[in-house]
Amino acid sequence: MTTAKGYAAHNATEALSPYDFSRRVVGAKDIKIEILYCGVCHSDIHQVRNEWGGTNYPIVPGHEIVGRIIEVGAEVRNFKVNELAGVGCLVDSCRECDNCKKGLEQFCRNGFTGTYNGADKKSGGFTYGGYSNQIVVDQDFVLHISDKLPLEKVAPLLCAGITTYSPLRHWKVGKGHKVAVVGLGGLGHMAIKLAASFGAEVTMLSTSPSKQKDAAQLGAHHFALTTDPEQILALTGKFDFIIDTVSAAHDYNTYLQMLNTDGVMVCVGAPPTPSQIVAFNLIGGRKSLAGSLIGGIAETQEMLDYCSEHNITSDVEVIAISEINTAYERMLKGDVRYRFVIDMSTL
Ligand code: NAP
Ligand code: ZN
Ligand code: ZN
Repeated sequence: MTTAKGYAAHNATEALSPYDFSRRVVGAKDIKIEILYCGVCHSDIHQVRNEWGGTNYPIVPGHEIVGRIIEVGAEVRNFKVNELAGVGCLVDSCRECDNCKKGLEQFCRNGFTGTYNGADKKSGGFTYGGYSNQIVVDQDFVLHISDKLPLEKVAPLLCAGITTYSPLRHWKVGKGHKVAVVGLGGLGHMAIKLAASFGAEVTMLSTSPSKQKDAAQLGAHHFALTTDPEQILALTGKFDFIIDTVSAAHDYNTYLQMLNTDGVMVCVGAPPTPSQIVAFNLIGGRKSLAGSLIGGIAETQEMLDYCSEHNITSDVEVIAISEINTAYERMLKGDVRYRFVIDMSTL
C-alpha cells in the first residue's frame, strides 16, 4: 500500500476535509497516475450527501480525472510512464458478461466498480476517487488523453462528456434533428456542444434567464425559459430528441409534451426522488422516455478522440481543492459556468 492524500466527506452533512488514505501497490496490469485535474460532477454531491443511498464513508469523490502516468506494471502494454491519461466513472467490471463483451461495462451484469464508493474487489475495501493526488487503475479502464487540448478543460469529458455523447450517438442524433437540452450545468453545456457539432438544431431549456447568452455561445440555436408557461406552450410537439440533465426533482411531463411524433426523451440527470409520468404524454405521438448511464470504455475513448479532433472541451472554472465546499453550494444554486475543476497542485 502507498499513502495518498485527498479530500473526503465523513458523513452526509459535514464539509469535505483533508484525508490521508491508502492506494494499492501497482500490480502487473495497473497504472499509477499523478492526478493533475479533477472535475466536479453533481453525482459527487448526490453521493457525498447520501441522496441516492448506499454511500460508504469516508468518501473521496471525483470521477473526471486527468493526469500523468508515473508508474506502470510489468504487463501494461498500451501506456507508458510520462504519458497523459484519464479515468472516468469506472475502474473495473467482470469483462466476461455479454454487456462487458459488447463494450457496455457500465451495464456489467456482475456490477461495475465505480471510481469511488465502489466495492473494491482488489483491496477488499471501497474505491477512492479523484479528489486526490494519485490513483492506481487497471490498464483496461485507463483512457488516452491528447496533449493538444488544455488538460483542465478535458477533465469533464470523462463524465459530463461521455454521458451526453453516448445517448446522442445511440439515438443517432445529427443533421435534420431538432434537439432540446434541459438544464444548463456540466452535462447540459457538453450536450449543447456535442449535439451542435453533430449537426442538430439545438434549443436550450433553462430555468436561468442569465444563461441565455452563454447558451448561444456554447452553440445553442434557440433558448427558452422553462419558468415561463407561454414559452413552454409554444414548444409543444417541437423536438425529435430531448436530453434531460436536471439534478433536482422536476416534472418530466412538461418536456414529454414538447416531443414530436416518435420523439425520444432521455433522462441522464438523476434526481434522488421519483417522478410521476402521465401515460397520455407518451401514448399521443408514440413517444419514448429513456435513460442512459455514462458510456463504455471504448466509447469513452472514441468520444475523447472526437473531442480532440474537433477541438471540443468543457468551459471550466478552475478551483483550489479548499474551495470544494463552496463549489458544491454554488452548484446547488445552478451557479456553475459550466464545470468546476480542481487544480490538484493545490492539495
Ligand atoms: P449541474 O452542473 O449542477 O447542472 C444541473 C442543472 O440542472 C443546473 O445548472 C440547472 O440548470 C438545472 N436545475 C437544477 N435544479 C433544477 C430544478 N429544480 N429544476 C429545473 N432545473 C434545475 O449538474 P451536472 O453535473 O450536469 O449533473 C446533472 C445530473 O446528471 C445530476 O443528477 C447527476 O447526478 C447526473 N449524472 C448522470 C450521469 C449518467 O450517467 N446518467 C452522469 C453524470 C451525472 P438551469 O440553470 O439551466 O436550469
Ligand atoms: Zn459524473
Ligand atoms: Zn460484466
